[in-house]
Parts: sequence; structure tokens; C-alpha cells
Amino acid sequence: MGAPASGEFDLIARYFAPIAAAFPGALGLKDDAAIFDPPAGSRLVVTADAMVAGVHFMADDPPDLIARKLMRVNLSDLAAKGATPYACLMTICLPPIYLPGGTEEGWIAAFAQGLAADASEYAFPLAGGDTTRTPGPLTLSLTAVGLAPMGRAPLLRSGAQAGDLVFVTGTIGDAHLGLAVQQGEFAALAPQHRAALIERYRLPQPRVAFGQALAAVPGVHAAADVSDGLVADLGHICAASGLAARLQAGKLPLSAAAEAVMAMAGIGARLLTGGDDYEIVFTAAPAAEPALHALASDQGLKLTAIGSVGHGQGVSVLDGAGDVISLVQKGYRHF
Ligand code: ADP
Ligand code: MG
Repeated sequence: MGAPASGEFDLIARYFAPIAAAFPGALGLKDDAAIFDPPAGSRLVVTADAMVAGVHFMADDPPDLIARKLMRVNLSDLAAKGATPYACLMTICLPPIYLPGGTEEGWIAAFAQGLAADASEYAFPLAGGDTTRTPGPLTLSLTAVGLAPMGRAPLLRSGAQAGDLVFVTGTIGDAHLGLAVQQGEFAALAPQHRAALIERYRLPQPRVAFGQALAAVPGVHAAADVSDGLVADLGHICAASGLAARLQAGKLPLSAAAEAVMAMAGIGARLLTGGDDYEIVFTAAPAAEPALHALASDQGLKLTAIGSVGHGQGVSVLDGAGDVISLVQKGYRHF
């Protein structure tokens, strides 16, 4: 690496323009705006997610992982809508220590490396953004743009139907436990389980390929990504659809590491309400179940039917005896 970038434009040219090279419409990040020329027959699916140091990550977390998490939390929203990643725009508000001459000026290079890695892994190039200084904490916001076929109904939260089954990808609760482990809980847990949980917290695996395929399966009615917690996000589907869901606690997919925590400490409710899973929860007609399992197994992804949709309101979780388990807090809320 050469001399430190001397100003905003050097910084953009040096660290961010390479991540825009795969997207001609970004114009090398040298113009006022990017040009989007989506393929004919596509519609744009757009979302944004911000991350603030001290709220969503710790300022001393590895910068490349912060960058990848910023991309992946947004990719997870695109995945839940069945969209194909197209391009992203990123706003970064930097405290002075991160600017050229500051004590953390190496941070941007490491951050850009993480961005570049995921831009390439998910074919999700940078098309623009804004860079500014701030007197507050390091603040990052990504706007994600995806594509979906014009001729197909979009995969929304509001489409659930009474009689649907509820499915979830992957395993639930790992990221929440990973954060707890990082903060010193479950000290007696075996090292490989600790490592697996922390990894799930630090580096989400957005279900991008699965979401795209899911949107094309007949009988899939509603979907959301699990970012605030399974019960909260399924609750969003229920509210948007004017229906209720019942989950069977015994069917919840748990990783080996989460099973080990459960054996040590009976903390099941936390798995249902802890955030940051970045799985997809969706509802589909029972007749779709074989096609859904075939799709998931093609992709090497775990898929579990965990409950059903019916008339009423809200999400209830039933234990083995059919009794409702009470959940004190339904999910992560900022305020
Ligand atoms: P303006 O002066 O109108 O605010 P800028 O000079 O900030 O525009 O931006 C110049 C170019 O650099 C634009 O194409 C913008 O999209 C891009 N850009 C600025 N900051 C970022 C960033 N953090 N990530 C990606 N592109 C950026
Ligand atoms: Mg600017």
C-alpha cells in the first residue's frame, strides 16, 4: 500500500472505486450519480439498513467483518423478497480518527477488503454512496438494490393464508448465543461450540440463492428474513396478513452448539426471540412441502416445518403437551 489517501476523493478512488469496477453504471464512482439499466422485464427491489458503532457492532470488531455484516444484513432482506443482488450504495460517517492522519486510518483499507470480498462473492457491486465525517460514533448505511422478475408476484410479508405451514431455513438462535458467549456467558461450553456460535454472530449467511428459488415455487405465500428474532419476524408476517401462527417448540431447528447450550441451561425462549439469525421464515401451502424440501436439499440447506398459520392474531409457541409457552420479550427492538 502507498501513502495514505489524502482526502475524500482519494479515499473513494483508492478504496471504493475498485469495488465498483464490476458495475459499469457506477461510472468509476467519478460522477454525481450512478446509472441503473436493469435488464428488461426486471423490477427493482430496494432496502436500506444502517449500523452504528456501539449499537450494532463494537468499534473494535474486525473491520472486514463489519463490512461483510453491513452487506449481508441487507442481502438477507433482498433474499427474503426473492430478489437477485444487483448493486449497493453505501454511506459512511467517519469520526476523525478514521480519516487520513488519524490513529485508525488503516481501518478503511481493512473495511474495504471485507466489502470487496462480499461484493465479489454475492455479485453485489458498489454503485455509489456518500462519505462524510461525524462528531458521533462510526455510522454505516447500505442501500441494497435487487432485481426480481416483473411477471411474478413479489414475495411479501402480507400473503400468508390460513392453513399454510410455517417453514424456516437453517438453525435458530445461534447468533444470539454467539453474542452471549462473546460477552462471557456459557463459559463451560466446549470450544468448538463456542467458535461455531460466535462465527454465526459475526458473519451472517444470507440465504440469497434459496430466496431467489423460493419465490418461484408455487404455493409459497409470504416470507420475511429473521433479523429481530423468529417470533418477532413471523409476527410481522402474521400482522401483515391478518392471521395467527402457532409454532411447535419441539420442532425448532437447533445447531449442535445450541443443543449443547440448551442441555446446560434451559433457555429455550431466548432462542425464539434472540435476533441476528438472518434465516428466512416463510409460509406455504402444505402441498408445496415436497418441492420445498427438494429445493433446500439441492442447496444443502436445512429447512424445517415448524408450525402453521390460522385465524387470529400473533404468534404462539406450544410445548410438547400443547400448552402455550409464555415469552417475556418477543424480539429485539431498538426503542
Ligand atoms: P457529492 O459531492 O455530490 O456529495 P461525492 O463527491 O460525495 O458527491 O461523491 C462522488 C462519487 O463518489 C459519487 O459517485 C458517489 O456515489 C461516490 N461515493 C462517495 N462516497 C462513497 C462511498 N462511501 N461508497 C461508494 N461510493 C461513494
Ligand atoms: Mg459527498
